[in-house]
Amino acid sequence: MAKVELKDICKVYEGGVKAVDKVNIVVEDREFVVFVGPSGCGKSTTLRMVAGLEDITEGELLIDGERMNDVPPKDRNIAMVFQNYALYPHMSVYENMAFGLKIKKLPTDEIDKRVRETAQILDIEKFLDRKPRALSGGQRQRVAVGRAIVRNPKVFLFDEPLSNLDAKLRVQMRAELSDLHLRLQATMIYVTHDQVEAMTMADKIVVMKDGRVQQIGSPLHLYNHPCNKFVAGFIGSPPMNFLTLTVEENNGILLRGETCALKSSAEALKKYAGRNLYFGIRPEDLKYTETPSDNCISARITVVEPLGADIHLWLMAGNQPLVVRTEPHYQFKVGDTVNFNANMEKAQFFDRETELSVL
Ligand code: ADP
Repeated sequence: MAKVELKDICKVYEGGVKAVDKVNIVVEDREFVVFVGPSGCGKSTTLRMVAGLEDITEGELLIDGERMNDVPPKDRNIAMVFQNYALYPHMSVYENMAFGLKIKKLPTDEIDKRVRETAQILDIEKFLDRKPRALSGGQRQRVAVGRAIVRNPKVFLFDEPLSNLDAKLRVQMRAELSDLHLRLQATMIYVTHDQVEAMTMADKIVVMKDGRVQQIGSPLHLYNHPCNKFVAGFIGSPPMNFLTLTVEENNGILLRGETCALKSSAEALKKYAGRNLYFGIRPEDLKYTETPSDNCISARITVVEPLGADIHLWLMAGNQPLVVRTEPHYQFKVGDTVNFNANMEKAQFFDRETELSVL
């Protein structure tokens, strides 16, 4: 059992920087929760407060209902894996993994059993006698994870653990960590700036910006129901498109832009008649059409990116940029003006001032 609760947590660093501002998060037992957001948004600070590596300025941290604010890190039963691995260079892989258990004065045969079992899970048995410098980045990262597993902690914390790996290895390690989560049935909190990592690994994502939580939900919930323009633009790649459109009431709702007139059935938009809204549409919800009809956006192609399985087109709709993901069999040329049918069922709308979703 390990449930982690952050209640109105704040962090003000010396000098007055408010890095974390009234954060409320519940991490359920055995959940894999990812904190994601741009650099400097306060995700590492939040994680380090859970670990006990930073003091909590205000608010309460509970683990299984017990207040942890003043409990030293070593007594929180938490293990953390860092971006730079933080292995002891003069110790072998075995010694690195055994070190924390020796400090706890576990019997030697128990230490040996745990280290060897963990090495087997992570497929690093053959490296146990090597020093970290004789390992690749991916192998070092596995040792760092192994060092956390042998301690059998209540909660695993990961701070950007894959950032130093190349793209291919990152994809592989992502899958390995997800698999490990299933096998260990452990509570895990993972920090990353990479929304793809968040989408692929998380049971629940916490999106942060400027020290504040923007939205918490499952990956698909955030993708389909972003609460504001920031979350809508941050989750998804290529990112969601935003066009400035004017709302007209005209036997329903008509959204008029520079190169389009779109019909929406969203009742909620009625109260915006005569005003501007951000219209959000994902790159895959714009379908190329040769015969323009209702709900079409006309745009001029500026860049064609053939990716094999699909094509990304970068375009200008009047003076507003647009990106479209489309099937690979079309022949698109830079400079052509083409039409896309917008799937209005999937459209998002955001207030121009507050940037909150109006749906
Ligand atoms: P993230 O992990 O999202 O990149 P951080 O939690 O590292 O963000 O940092 C959040 C904010 O706190 C940033 O503005 C950063 O500059 C500031 N900050 C981080 N560590 C310190 C520190 N030790 N002293 C003062 N400010 C800090």
